[in-house]
Amino acid sequence: MQSLTVLSLLTSASLLMIPCAAQTSPARDYPVKPVPFTAVKVKDSFWAPKIETNRKVTIPFAFEQCEKSGRIYNFERAAKVLRGETVTDLRPPGYPFDDTDPYKVIEGASYALSVTPDPQLDAYVDTLIAKIGAAQEKDGYLYTTRTINPQAPHPWAGKERWELEQYDSHELYNLGHLYEAAAAHYQATGKRTLLDIAIRTADLLVNTFGPGKKAIWPGHQITEMGLVKLYRVTGNQKYLDLAKFLLDVRGPKTGMPRRHPSNQYNQSFLPVIEQTEPVGHAVRATYMYSGMADVAAMTGDFAYVNALNKIWDTVVQKKLYITGGIGASGAGEAFGGPYELPNMTAYNETCASIGNDYWNHRMFLLHADAKYIDVMERTLYNGLISGVSLDGKSFFYPNPLESNGQHQRSPWFGVACCPGNITRFLASFPGYMYGYQGDKLYVNLYAAGEASIKMDGGREVRLTQETKFPWEGAVKIGVEPSRAGNFTVNVRIPGWARDEAVPSDLYRFSEPLQTPATVKVNGRSVPMKLDKGYVAITRNWRKGDTIEVSLPMPVRRVLAHEKVTADKDRMALQRGPFVYAAEWADNPGGKVRNLMLPANAELRAEWRPDLLNGVTVIKSRAVALSYDAKGAVQKKEQEFTAIPYYAWANRGRGQMIVWLPTVESAAKPSAWPTVATTSKLVATPGRQQRGKNPAPIIDGEEPTSSIDNSSYFDWWPTRGTTESIEMTFAKTETVSEAQIYWFDDTGRGQVRVPQSWRLLYKDGNEWKPVENPSGYGVAKDTYNKVTFKPVTTSALKLEVVMQPQWSAGLSEWKVK
Ligand SMILES: [Zn+2]
Repeated sequence: MQSLTVLSLLTSASLLMIPCAAQTSPARDYPVKPVPFTAVKVKDSFWAPKIETNRKVTIPFAFEQCEKSGRIYNFERAAKVLRGETVTDLRPPGYPFDDTDPYKVIEGASYALSVTPDPQLDAYVDTLIAKIGAAQEKDGYLYTTRTINPQAPHPWAGKERWELEQYDSHELYNLGHLYEAAAAHYQATGKRTLLDIAIRTADLLVNTFGPGKKAIWPGHQITEMGLVKLYRVTGNQKYLDLAKFLLDVRGPKTGMPRRHPSNQYNQSFLPVIEQTEPVGHAVRATYMYSGMADVAAMTGDFAYVNALNKIWDTVVQKKLYITGGIGASGAGEAFGGPYELPNMTAYNETCASIGNDYWNHRMFLLHADAKYIDVMERTLYNGLISGVSLDGKSFFYPNPLESNGQHQRSPWFGVACCPGNITRFLASFPGYMYGYQGDKLYVNLYAAGEASIKMDGGREVRLTQETKFPWEGAVKIGVEPSRAGNFTVNVRIPGWARDEAVPSDLYRFSEPLQTPATVKVNGRSVPMKLDKGYVAITRNWRKGDTIEVSLPMPVRRVLAHEKVTADKDRMALQRGPFVYAAEWADNPGGKVRNLMLPANAELRAEWRPDLLNGVTVIKSRAVALSYDAKGAVQKKEQEFTAIPYYAWANRGRGQMIVWLPTVESAAKPSAWPTVATTSKLVATPGRQQRGKNPAPIIDGEEPTSSIDNSSYFDWWPTRGTTESIEMTFAKTETVSEAQIYWFDDTGRGQVRVPQSWRLLYKDGNEWKPVENPSGYGVAKDTYNKVTFKPVTTSALKLEVVMQPQWSAGLSEWKVK
């Protein structure tokens, strides 16, 4: 839906666009219908700037990265091969799923275009679509690596089409993203260019897969969701049938050898309707659950819904971070076991947060229950938007809840799924705010702006929101029906504005709210009778009616279930929808992991317009713990500041912590300053675009074993090379001993103790090996001590020769 002001901005060139191309109405659908983001205009100071940064910065930036990294070049090379031209560069792309990144950014750009016309962006997307179309084979097949070099495609692609689909070829995964992009582009512009490309591939799939044809499932899900979108746009029942087939064929009965233990990794360990546990790769899982919800909504298949209800309960009871992140484990990018929610090593991929929100929104549309919006909102305001920097140009892949400075955002990744996902999610954010069913409206999220809602039966309602949410909890909702009449407005009272941290016992607020949430209509209080998280207001609504919602926003302390060992004797801070983090930049001494915040410390909220684009911080007094020269713990009271978690890591690398110790024994006292802990480290970057931060290896924290990954540095994915780290002392020192604790993640990763190493010292501008070294040990789980002839120097250099095929890393480096 275009407002008049937007229409008046249209130039003659962009008049070719036909916004909101018609969509066929399926016979059956979700009971609750979402109000599309094109009908909702957000004008607040939080989301509106983020959506604009996404449109003006992130989308062009992500396209530029797709160009620079060869992702567009792959389509160009495939097109040349199809035209019979000579292509000398037949190398496979970095990954067989590189095609999806342009698809995802086209989807994001299309959403942006359907709200804000941009002839230049529109024209650029057209050129990309032309390149994609030119890379499509005659029968519809679209997968650049095989088309570029059918004899030797990417090793994960296999010799024949679809041969390795259930493993790693990602042929169907790529097409799923194409369908999402094609539906978005058609609806935004009315142009059929990308849609027709998508339809040709989908018709090939319909002819290839199904009963009596090939019976395999997508190794990486999203094809199912994508096919449902294509069905919505075209009305072609075959696409919905295929989506359902690809879900139903999933499972261990297909006779494929099992590469992953029980195939939990890609959720094929059981037929989908028999699954009750969230396991394996978290992004694949949430895309599959979203696809199951879609197919259930369109077919009425309750077996899917029953499975989803059970899986959802387990996520929320045992596998959800307080930030709404999911997928605890970096190994397999997977869900951990029940209550396995480590903080420093939390994986919480940005894409998994996005997938979690796709899924929870669909669960709401199925059940009209606000508990799904509670989870969606928690993820949205915390573990999802933490995935992109405030300037829109760098991204987190994992979103940990504690850092020793080893984490930092990156402008792009070899596997670049997260940035593209951010572009498409943020552009469509307003579509998550409202829903309707019959004569019921649902107000799910709060943000200043307006919405035009066309309900079934022809009633139109304009809703406006005046509020400073998410920083303040007062919301004034204007209700303007096109004609007066009886209907219901369901106003969501978030769990945090009641006494429910999450819809389970996984987290709880330490104290009950002092002031309850209230709702008024035209100034008169409405009874706070909650049904599925909503206050339902049924009345004869007329133009000019207002609803005032007051959501209390004191700072709350959150405690975790006792089985979450990582959060034992700790608490998290929350205010409104935001979970807070203490970061190095705001706290004395630049450290936060050594802090203890007493359970009874007074907490106050303070608005800071100057900080991080404007945030409410939490202030208090904390106790800083440190070791003295004799190893005794010293305590000092000091100022404490916490910022909203999403805004961390925008001011350089350093410590961060979400779960704050409430007792001394849970805190990590900072180390007594030594030659090593006061020095500066520079490591060779290996294959990393920007090197990792080696600072954790001089933090003075004692490793518990070589596989302890709470504080370490490694060169992974670089393998088999010689690398080095220079340690520059705070001042010239005379030293004669070094101790190295090697990091080695045998059984989990690809880092091993090195083949050999040596120490050099700086003599003027030259590096010279230390003399008479006592020996360079490579023992695991202990310090390897080397003594040498004393040298007076400003710096040492550690030179590491990796074992062939393996990477190397360190947990701690001491010098005397
Ligand atoms: Zn990702």
